[in-house]
Amino acid sequence: MSKKRISKKAAVGIGEERVSILAELSIEALANGREDLAVRYVTLARNIGKKTKAKMPEDFKYCKKCLIPLVPGTNCTVRLTSEKVVTTCLRCGELRRMPYRKEKEK
Ligand SMILES: [Zn+2]
Repeated sequence: MSKKRISKKAAVGIGEERVSILAELSIEALANGREDLAVRYVTLARNIGKKTKAKMPEDFKYCKKCLIPLVPGTNCTVRLTSEKVVTTCLRCGELRRMPYRKEKEK
């Protein structure tokens, strides 16, 4: 059994590239009405992330519960409260609250 040896740093780089490709594919699949595929891509991307510590692209959001990419106006709603951004997944109803970043004070 031969296993290719690559440095950890290289693995993260390759992982991140794949994760971002999968993120794009999943959004595309969603746009084509293929929720099943979209979920599959997010699942794959997450697995790569776990293995290589690659992070999801910063602007890519997905539901932590049903693993579907979240696209505002398509399958999620985004509501602003005074302190937080509340994203609701329209597929499973999962809420996600994100505090504002400091951008507000700029
Ligand atoms: Zn969901």
